[in-house]
Amino acid sequence: MSASMSLPFDLGPRPHLGYTQSRIDRVAERRLDSDWLAARMADVASRIYVIGGEMIVLKKRDAVHDPDFEPDEAQALAPHTETVFLGMFDGHACFGVGILPAAAEALKARDDLVVTDLRSIAIQGLVAAEHLPPLAEAKAMLHWHARHRFCSNCGAATNMVEAGWKRSCPACKAEHFPRTDPVVIMLSVNGDKGLLGRSGRFAATMWSCLAGFVEPGEAIEDAVRRETLEEAGVRCGRVKYLYSQPWPFPMSLMIGAHAEALNENLTMDKNELVGLRWFSKDECAAMLLRKHPEGLTCPPPVAIAHHIIRSWVESDGAIF
Ligand SMILES: [Zn+2]
Repeated sequence: MSASMSLPFDLGPRPHLGYTQSRIDRVAERRLDSDWLAARMADVASRIYVIGGEMIVLKKRDAVHDPDFEPDEAQALAPHTETVFLGMFDGHACFGVGILPAAAEALKARDDLVVTDLRSIAIQGLVAAEHLPPLAEAKAMLHWHARHRFCSNCGAATNMVEAGWKRSCPACKAEHFPRTDPVVIMLSVNGDKGLLGRSGRFAATMWSCLAGFVEPGEAIEDAVRRETLEEAGVRCGRVKYLYSQPWPFPMSLMIGAHAEALNENLTMDKNELVGLRWFSKDECAAMLLRKHPEGLTCPPPVAIAHHIIRSWVESDGAIF
């Protein structure tokens, strides 16, 4: 073996992909059982997540904080906007309750609480990993309710029903269901090089996969090809699905893929990106391990981009 890094790379044990492998059993059949739901909301054994806009309320602890409140504790924090039933978590009923963002802001003054955003919680590991999927579920649901108080068909005020899993319009009888927005996120590969870009929103050293919303009437594979062509001027052939991730910012489903790049020349969309270039596997391995000589990085393991890049770096080259 040569002294240089050899292929494939061994980056150690695979980290967990954030917000996935939920332990919640959604027991959808309970959503219509209002007596049972009311009893659970009065049960001290139930677990309540409290969310105000982007902010999650946590009980301050020494190491990892506690996002679970008992119903009475949650009630005492601030008036609830909506309450959604998330499902059963280790035998306990689990709910997400919304409070006004201003109320969450006011709770920051309390010494016994930590009030911060879900991105920080996930990246810094501020709660046990098992809480991330139900927090994502609760945050996405509460965001949807906050933006869908009126009927998109007739404009009348709608009512939340089925424990938060539907809104119904009393005027025109239309039913509205919580939605999630599909986003493709992909690494285009040309020979032994992978394509990464930089958004102006990124930290100055970070490079990541290209991404974009799937549009109506579009297959996932076609969205991967269109977004890569639009943002980078690269045509793609084969597309291989890898894995998906709920991404509650505000309510997306990330769909991760590798794509076969058919040309190397780049034409960067300057409205979307501030940087675009091909990287070798050596560089990407160093970026994933945070050992790049210039300090360049890839997103952390909580993000699907980390896993998409890593699975290419660890592949033997034949990813299709
Ligand atoms: Zn209506």
